[in-house]
Formats: sequence, structure tokens, C-alpha cells
Amino acid sequence: MASVHTLTHKLSSLNISKSNAEPPKDQVQKLLTKFSAPNPLKSKASSTTSKSAALVSSASSSSLKSTQSLKTIYGASKTEKSIPTSSSNDKKEVDIGTYDGGLDSDENEQVSPEDAPDLVLDSSTLSTAPTRNWSLHDFDIGRPLGKGKYGRVYMVRTKTAPKYILAMKTLYKAELVKDHNERQVRREIEIQMHLRHPNVLRLYGYFHDSRRVFLMLEFAGQGELYRQLLKQGRFSPRRSAKYTYQMADALSYLHSKSVIHRDIKPENLLLGLKGELKIADFGWSVHAPGNRRNTLCGTPDYLPPEMVLRKEHGKYVDHWALGVLIYEFLKGSAPFGDKSQQVSMRKIARVEYQFPSTFEEDAKDLIGRLLRFEPRERIPLDEVMVHPWVTKYVPQVASV
Ligand code: AMP
Repeated sequence: MASVHTLTHKLSSLNISKSNAEPPKDQVQKLLTKFSAPNPLKSKASSTTSKSAALVSSASSSSLKSTQSLKTIYGASKTEKSIPTSSSNDKKEVDIGTYDGGLDSDENEQVSPEDAPDLVLDSSTLSTAPTRNWSLHDFDIGRPLGKGKYGRVYMVRTKTAPKYILAMKTLYKAELVKDHNERQVRREIEIQMHLRHPNVLRLYGYFHDSRRVFLMLEFAGQGELYRQLLKQGRFSPRRSAKYTYQMADALSYLHSKSVIHRDIKPENLLLGLKGELKIADFGWSVHAPGNRRNTLCGTPDYLPPEMVLRKEHGKYVDHWALGVLIYEFLKGSAPFGDKSQQVSMRKIARVEYQFPSTFEEDAKDLIGRLLRFEPRERIPLDEVMVHPWVTKYVPQVASV
């Protein structure tokens, strides 16, 4: 079990500074624009802003336990007059935006350990020791980044230097229990905590209180790849090839760790500050050393034939998904998509799809080599990285 000291040391040695803590000035500026939120000092404080101000201003360093609710922690500070924000106090700090009070206002049932044995997150049962030394009190909470199935995600900053910027994902235990997803979350934590790759979203730590689990995630500055794909309709071959290279590199790393992602799709990909792709969402991943599974999971568009046909499957499911992904990058829609899920599944089982006339020959070649019925016939990931279509657009592979 990791001690507080080890974990603190681990965090300070994290490579966050590369992309998050001190991004180049122009990127900070972009971030400031993108994430700019009303400064409570300038505008008249609404009830929400005063709540958020209370949160931001409560920078006391008393050691509060993570099991204390935010109401208890911050309730008394609403009357404070000065409202130090990151931008008003220290010009060098990245503006993390304004907290909307969401963590405080959500009323969710408490979950007892008996209700959710998988959520106790006890190091005696979880191979990854909980990072117990963290609590909500250690962070300035900023703007909401999004809302997932189990709770909100916030941009946060550690209160102590070097003031790392992170994304804090909240998962309500009651919701997880309702969906019987406690194990999935444990799996996500266990898997993601051990991974270190520039194109795999890092999970730095986690802690929990009686109602929630908090995941301390790498902050993906450019948000969801899916949103950009929707906005642009499709990606240029150059951009698609760059992502293909990064995906193949990341998947190859995951497979070398015996991790199969199993749910590769644009919705599960985020973009870092420099636009680099980050594989996120390990909810469906399996850590399967030499192990083959036959659970049906994932969404139909990206399912490979072996899963549609409910056969056992292994790492080649991710190769297939990469083929579907490249196709969707270039066309803006998936190759086997259909209004009817059944038709979609039938097309997948028959590997029935067409290329638009706009696709380049070498792109078709690569996609065709990934979308093979026989899993073992799918092109290896290291070959994807040096495929002529990829190297045409990503010639200096080392500088990607
Ligand atoms: P999720 O619960 O993972 O579906 O996250 C909900 C939303 O929060 C996502 O769709 C993203 O817009 C945002 N989000 C999640 N994780 C991060 C992150 N690490 N960095 C930036 N935004 C994130």
C-alpha cells in the first residue's frame, strides 16, 4: 500500500508540467479565452457566483477529511468579502473558470459499504491503493467541463505549488450502485492508474467520500474529439493520419500491458492542449493477460464481427475499431452505420461496407487491412504506424 509520502512524491514527479501545469503562453491565452468565465469581482455576484467564490476563497490548509461534505467545509465562508480568484491573485495562474456550485447542490443518497462492497475502495481489496491523502479541500474548483453519466467533471487546480491543473471527475456512488457498475469503475481505476503513455489519458489518483468517488484525471485542454468531428463534419487526411499514428501507438502500448480497450470510438477520445489525442474511458477495458473474453460490450458501430457473433474476442477488437475510426474520421460517419441496429450488425458480420470515391487508395488499403473478418489477419499496430498512407502525412514519425 502506498504511503501518503510516496503518493505525494509520485504526484510531484508526475509529468503534468509537460502539457498542463505550465503550457506555453499562447496556449494559456487560448485557454483563458476558451475557458473564460465571469469574474465574480467584476460582475454582480449571483447566488451561484457567491457560492463559487466561497469555494475559491476557502483556501485554508486545515486537514479536513475527504468524508466531510462540501457544505460542512465551506458553509461558513459565504459571507467572506474578498474573493480571490486565480486571475485576480496571481496573473501567472491559469484561469480555471468559475465553479457553479454543482458539487455542493447535488443531493444524492448516501451509500453504505454494505450496499456497495465494490465501492469501499479499500486497499485491502483494490490492488491500486486509494490516494487517501487527497480531499476536495486540496483543490480550487473551476468551471464544469462536462457531465457524464455518473456526475460532473470539473477543471480544478491543486492549491499547493506547483498548482497542477487537472480534471476532476465525480461519480455518485448511489448511481453506480443503481446501475450495478461498481465493478466497472474499480476496473477503470485499476487499469488507468497503471498506464503511462502520451496518448492515454492519465489517472493521477482518486479519493472518495460517503457519496462520491473523485477521479483526478489529466486535463484534456481541447476537450472531446467527437465534438470537433461533429463541428467539422470530417477530418482532413493529414489530421486523420496523425490521429491514426497516435492511436496505433497508444493501442500498441495498451496491448503490451495486456490491456484491451474494447470501446474505441470518437466519444471516448479527448484532445490535449496541443491537440494530441488521448484515449479515455477505460470502463469497458479488460486486463486480460493471455485471456480471451466473450462478453458483448461496446456500441454497435464499432463492434467487430467476433463480438456481433458472440464469439470470444481478444486484442484484435481494437484493431477493428481503429479501422472503423479512420473511416469515420475521413467520411464523418461509420462504415456499418444504419438506422436499424440489426442491419448494422448484419453488415458487420458480413464485413459489408463501401468506400466513398473521395478516399485515397492507400487510405482504403489501410482500412481494408484493419477491417478483416478474421481477427488475426488484421494488420499489426506497428505496421499501421509505418503504413504508406500514415507516413505520407506523418513523415517525421519521431516528431509526432
Ligand atoms: P465523462 O463522464 O467521462 O463522459 O465526461 C463528461 C464530459 O466531461 C466529457 O464529455 C468531456 O467533455 C468532459 N471531460 C471528461 N474528462 C475530461 C478531461 N480529462 N479533460 C477535459 N474534459 C473532460
